[in-house]
Amino acid sequence: MKKILFTGAALCALLLSCVSAQKTDSYYTAAERLPYLKNGRTALLKQTDIVPLILNHFETAGRRPKAVVINYDGCRVDLLPFLDAETSAVFSNASQGGLYLMFTGGEEGCLQNTRPAPGFTTQFTGKWALEEGGHGVFNNGLLKKDEPRTHFILLAEKGYATAFHFLWGAYPSILAEDRRYAEENGLPVEWNRCRPKGEARKNPDEALMREVISRLSVEGEGEVDFLTCIFESTDLAGHRYGFSPEEERYREALLKIDGYAQKIIETVRNRSSFASEEWLILITTDHGGRNLTHGAQSVYERTIWISSNRPL
Ligand SMILES: [Zn+2]
Repeated sequence: MKKILFTGAALCALLLSCVSAQKTDSYYTAAERLPYLKNGRTALLKQTDIVPLILNHFETAGRRPKAVVINYDGCRVDLLPFLDAETSAVFSNASQGGLYLMFTGGEEGCLQNTRPAPGFTTQFTGKWALEEGGHGVFNNGLLKKDEPRTHFILLAEKGYATAFHFLWGAYPSILAEDRRYAEENGLPVEWNRCRPKGEARKNPDEALMREVISRLSVEGEGEVDFLTCIFESTDLAGHRYGFSPEEERYREALLKIDGYAQKIIETVRNRSSFASEEWLILITTDHGGRNLTHGAQSVYERTIWISSNRPL
């Protein structure tokens, strides 16, 4: 009897893993059909690649180097097919360079939670939390070590003005060591937390977009060279209604912030000095999601993506 029970359980587990493998397969198949996609499931980029490619842009650009990174917090890759392949920010930007599948959450031996604090600290430092020389933020609620420094600091030390625009009140604590270091050394780094007031509180991402547009519109003295911002509507909708492309309100959140990203990109292109500048424009996310949450290691949470206006 015991043996039969065991066999039943094993068969059940096998069936479940087959169903799960099929689901994973269809998830990647959907991702691999995206316009301008340059890689597949067997050649994912790593989230740690973002810092080197930004630093490389500032080192090798022919004209005056500039960069902006626009984040859609918690935006699953299988949500992207709902964007217009021609006019959306994600795809029109990728049409000039490419769209790439990427992974977050760390690697074997140094896994980290698929949450914003670990994900963005990796996006900003080029390191996983727990690898040798890692940043230490393997979950929300932890603070970054002094080393490795963020790209905001590394670029500011080379004389570039950098700015981080965000809504979540935890970032100043997570990056407290870098804030202290920047202040002590008089580095041109801005930590711009957006705190919408009155009516604007109904749509914090719109308030954030206005601040980013205003910052990127400055030309000449006081202009910024590198700016990163984080829109949160996708993550909020995912937690409330479900991280699933079948959830209409999750899709609407993406359409809204993609429109904001498009306005930011138009602001960049409308700069009177645009022709003498060389802009790297990246749109990406920090993690995916599953059901009403994220943090674990499923492909739905680990798979992320990046749209670039230059081939990577
Ligand atoms: Zn979240």
